[in-house]
Amino acid sequence: MIKIGIPRALLYYQYYPMWQTFFEQLGAEVVVSPPTTQVMLSAGSFRVVSETCLPVKVFLGHVLHLTGQCDYVFVPAIRSVKTKAYNCSKFLGLPDMTKAVIPESSPILDVDIDINKGKPSLYQSIYSLGRHFTKDPFKIRQASMNAWQAHLDYRQLMSDCKLTSPRAIERFSGTPEVEPETFANGLSQGTIALIGHPYLLYDEHISHRLVHWLEKAHYQVFTPEMIVKSELEAATTRLTSREHWTYEEEVVGAGGYYLERGVDGVIGIMAFGCGPDSLMMDMVRRQSARLMTTPFMSLTVEEHTAETGVVTRLEAFLDMVAIRKRKQVAVCW
Ligand code: SF4
Repeated sequence: MIKIGIPRALLYYQYYPMWQTFFEQLGAEVVVSPPTTQVMLSAGSFRVVSETCLPVKVFLGHVLHLTGQCDYVFVPAIRSVKTKAYNCSKFLGLPDMTKAVIPESSPILDVDIDINKGKPSLYQSIYSLGRHFTKDPFKIRQASMNAWQAHLDYRQLMSDCKLTSPRAIERFSGTPEVEPETFANGLSQGTIALIGHPYLLYDEHISHRLVHWLEKAHYQVFTPEMIVKSELEAATTRLTSREHWTYEEEVVGAGGYYLERGVDGVIGIMAFGCGPDSLMMDMVRRQSARLMTTPFMSLTVEEHTAETGVVTRLEAFLDMVAIRKRKQVAVCW
């Protein structure tokens, strides 16, 4: 049986159930790299120039971890999943960069996803990917249809049950993700929305366990995946006339939505040196300043960010949220 390695980084949190379904339906075995560690991050960082963003360094660390443990490592090039909205350049060249900086990697299994090239090109890309496992086009078609359905079910599970991606993946795929200790049943102090890309929010090594700390402080945590797709799109359009970046909704849409919905606070997470996020997060910050109803804080993470620093800022923010709730005055950070 062919073994496919999937790095637990970058788009893993968006698409894992879909990828797992596709490969397993074609008879492959799927292995996922373990949660990020400092060793993995250091190994990934060592392969690229220091200016490279943190999530990409983490991704390369995961590829290195999978090297020799599988027949192929799956590294897709997701260029665009929306008309005239493109991904950042790191995603566009991810397979080529991975091959270049990790020449000893298990063979890279890549696929080019660009919705702007039209459906025939998309189908051809998926068919070429499936050909590694079978020559039967009907089997590939069926696997891709089931994979898409798995993706829709996964999205619905997160929005219906208000689950974070790791918790939904755990339910969906049986892949253990969540640490056993949860604090969700405690007395709720209020609601905090976390906005940003899933590979920043849910990688506990990158986010320094923000979800954990918020739940420990007895706040209910909301994330972009918990919003129904149509509402997320509508909120994005209200803030920006048209989407330019593929995953703009996770920042601009979710930020606008939660600011309008009156959660007690919104925290945006972005990676140091990320051009798209610095623009998108600023739009959310300005919207927060305009509305003056919900405190907003942005956290920029990089390789040397320490958990204590993140927790200190979080505590200060939560203190402000609590004071504001008590006094019911409009404050904006
Ligand atoms: S969007 Fe930003 S953080 Fe994400 S891969 Fe691109 S540069 Fe890195």
